[in-house]
Amino acid sequence: MQIDNLCVRLNEYKIEYVRSEPMSRHTTFKIGGNADVFIKVKNADELKTILTLTREYNMPYFILGKGSNLLVSDKGIDGVVISLDGIADIIIDGDTVVCGAGASLRALCIAAQKASLSGLEFAYGIPGTVGGALYMNAGAYGGEMSQVAVSATAIDRDGNIQEFNFDQMKLGYRTSAFKNTDLIIISVRLKLKDGNADEIKAAMDDFFARRRDKQPLEFPSAGSTFKRPEGYFAGALIEKNKLKGMSVGGAQVSEKHAGFVINTGGATCDDVLLLIKKVQDTVKLADGVDLEPEVIFVGRK
Ligand SMILES: Cc1cc2nc3c(=O)[nH]c(=O)nc-3n(C[C@H](O)[C@H](O)[C@H](O)COP(=O)(O)OP(=O)(O)OC[C@H]3O[C@@H](n4cnc5c(N)ncnc54)[C@H](O)[C@@H]3O)c2cc1C
Repeated sequence: MQIDNLCVRLNEYKIEYVRSEPMSRHTTFKIGGNADVFIKVKNADELKTILTLTREYNMPYFILGKGSNLLVSDKGIDGVVISLDGIADIIIDGDTVVCGAGASLRALCIAAQKASLSGLEFAYGIPGTVGGALYMNAGAYGGEMSQVAVSATAIDRDGNIQEFNFDQMKLGYRTSAFKNTDLIIISVRLKLKDGNADEIKAAMDDFFARRRDKQPLEFPSAGSTFKRPEGYFAGALIEKNKLKGMSVGGAQVSEKHAGFVINTGGATCDDVLLLIKKVQDTVKLADGVDLEPEVIFVGRK
């Protein structure tokens, strides 16, 4: 078995791993079957070693952030799931911040606020990592990563380090040059503006309060289920079609915010997929609009 052989080598390198790790423990949806092997990487060297081994054993890998935009298959994920937990340094130099991809956006926002640096207020409350936020070009309340990220460092499957300048990152609406590639973002450089720490904190608190008011944060979810279709709002279309509260198994269109599918308890990936399909079909029939999922499906089909 390739997995057994890989694990023998991980032991040789003293790299800690877990076999058959339920992904439901690592996704905000609390959904997902087992990853064959799960590793919390301690540093960039360890990451390079893991990449060498996955190449050697021809094993797929998947980079996990905070699992806040993921719908993981009930059948789990093939190969190695890698979390960049240990690559999370935040270094501030004047108005420039260089941040490890595994740092949480929350930690980055707080560090910037403490240094009186403005620009990241919008991101406070988005429950992802900095790497995941760049990958998705995450945004809210008129802000998005493209307004603050100036460059990034990534590593490819062969262990080559690549620098991406702003244009090369191709940041667009919930997309980037990193999407659907084997590139692993390891650090992000951001340019912020001098500001007033109290005002920055007040703006962060305001955005956070708005989230608490509008979003079903009391239930597991992966945030907005669908991208914003051009000229429409997904939530408004779903609400107009009286789909709020519609459920399949433990998955439900939130009563509080129609743009969110929530896990009311025991939802499976298949429940969510079926509910998404029902919502898409209804909206397409009634309004002729295609709702494209923002949530990313991963794992065994
Ligand atoms: C309650 C709630 C509210 C949310 N609000 C918002 C919002 O306001 N705006 C918004 O844009 N999103 C929002 N989201 C969605 C989600 O938080 C963002 O998309 C976030 O950027 C995902 O980051 P993550 O680290 O959790 O990535 P994950 O969900 O773990 O992964 C997402 C994708 O990024 C890839 N990835 C992650 N890290 C790396 C890396 N270092 N290198 C290469 N690829 C990587 C993964 O492989 C995967 O394909 C919300 C989610 C929830 C649950």
